[in-house]
Amino acid sequence: MNSSQVVCALTIAGSDSGGGAGIQADLKTFAAYRVHGLSAIAALTAQHTRGVTAVHLPDTGFLRAQIDACFDDFRIGAVKLGMLASAEVILAVADALEVHRPAHVVLDPVMVATSGARLLEPAALAALRERLMPMATLVTPNLPEAELLLGHAVTTAPAMREACHGLLAAGARAVLLKGGHLDDGGDVIDLLATSRNAPIEAIRHPRLALEAHGTGCTLASAIAANLALGADLSTACRVASDYVHRALLGGYRPGQADVVVLDHF
Ligand code: PLP
Repeated sequence: MNSSQVVCALTIAGSDSGGGAGIQADLKTFAAYRVHGLSAIAALTAQHTRGVTAVHLPDTGFLRAQIDACFDDFRIGAVKLGMLASAEVILAVADALEVHRPAHVVLDPVMVATSGARLLEPAALAALRERLMPMATLVTPNLPEAELLLGHAVTTAPAMREACHGLLAAGARAVLLKGGHLDDGGDVIDLLATSRNAPIEAIRHPRLALEAHGTGCTLASAIAANLALGADLSTACRVASDYVHRALLGGYRPGQADVVVLDHF
């Protein structure tokens, strides 16, 4: 295989020392799709299945050096953005993407971990919404993240549709709004909205009764891998959503808490 045939994807995100979420989940996902995974580490977390015990942010000059090194040598088909903990980090990433202009950017607007740990400073929300969201091919908020981006509650299925339109109006180019937090006893329904005039697509899966770690990271990086491989946005979202569902079905519990980590292989 010559180098022009190698498909590469870059994750700019946080490291999870527990190996379930963040950069570690992203690289496992890229590998499962046989996409060469590159990483720029935007945050380091000391973390296990019970929670986050410490966070360290590398200086933005070093973050930029990691991003530039990746773009200077590899043909990057898609970029996945995960935990970008501060306004300073977000602005550094936005500046780098403005220079390198990747074909696809999937923005997982990571804010609070399932364990309750805050992964984004409240003051950074505006930078994420105003600088990064308009650059992204797709933004993939869950409901609490969409509520923070919009500034109002989203608690019903019709409100989810409104929220998609609200995020498009706020500058998103496309939105995959994840419905897992809307527990009405039925299936999990994610909504894909690509323009205010196009119909919203629903992506549905049976709800699994387990507490999982790293699903958001995995979904966004599976979408990025599929976009890098040439899929259109709708196909990438559907294929990635199936991938997460299968990885959850085969998931395992590596730590002391009753938390499932996805099986990528
Ligand atoms: N740690 C890091 C570095 C992350 O990027 C994320 C989510 O994106 C999490 C932890 C939280 O993962 P979860 O909410 O699935 O537990």
